[in-house]
Amino acid sequence: MKIGVLAIQGDFAEHIVMLKRLGAESSEVRLPAHLNGLDGLIMPGGESTTIGKLAVDFGLMDPLREFGKSHAIWGTCAGAIFLSKDARRNQPLLGLMDITVQRNAFGRQVDSFEADLSIHELGEGGLYHAIFIRAPIIEAVHGDARILSTLPDGRIVAAQQGKLLATSFHPELTMDMRFHEYFLTLAR
Ligand code: GLN
Repeated sequence: MKIGVLAIQGDFAEHIVMLKRLGAESSEVRLPAHLNGLDGLIMPGGESTTIGKLAVDFGLMDPLREFGKSHAIWGTCAGAIFLSKDARRNQPLLGLMDITVQRNAFGRQVDSFEADLSIHELGEGGLYHAIFIRAPIIEAVHGDARILSTLPDGRIVAAQQGKLLATSFHPELTMDMRFHEYFLTLAR
């Protein structure tokens, strides 16, 4: 099992640490050829406009879209925005996941927060402690996309569509491996 991490901007190094801890092989993806031989791809948090513009410059848009048709891709925060079909503003998006997102939905950087979520897919019936940093919300899921988790007020913060996964929050900034483990099951 080999998982790539899109490494053009954002906190890709933290995802690589998590994958190493789980014993999965990982590699940094900056160019289309780096997608060869991967079983899945993680797109990190960061700044989605920057990630999108650099992906255009590096010729990654169509190769990533092609990859996502048959492989697992997980976007955290900015990565989730980049994965979406609609961010209600004009910026490069992969359009792979049938979700509408709202960027910076909780306000500015200082409005970042942590919250306990319940996520059935992670098992144990336990709570999952999630870190939100100038996070988007998933305003709506369409078509085959389904909700994985919401905040207590009902706002959607995690969604899945087949092998595609989107989270508003940052599992790579915690010590909890369960989300990365779950992604590996999708990539398998
Ligand atoms: N605010 C960023 C954006 O809209 C996302 C922040 C993050 O990835 N932590 O792209």
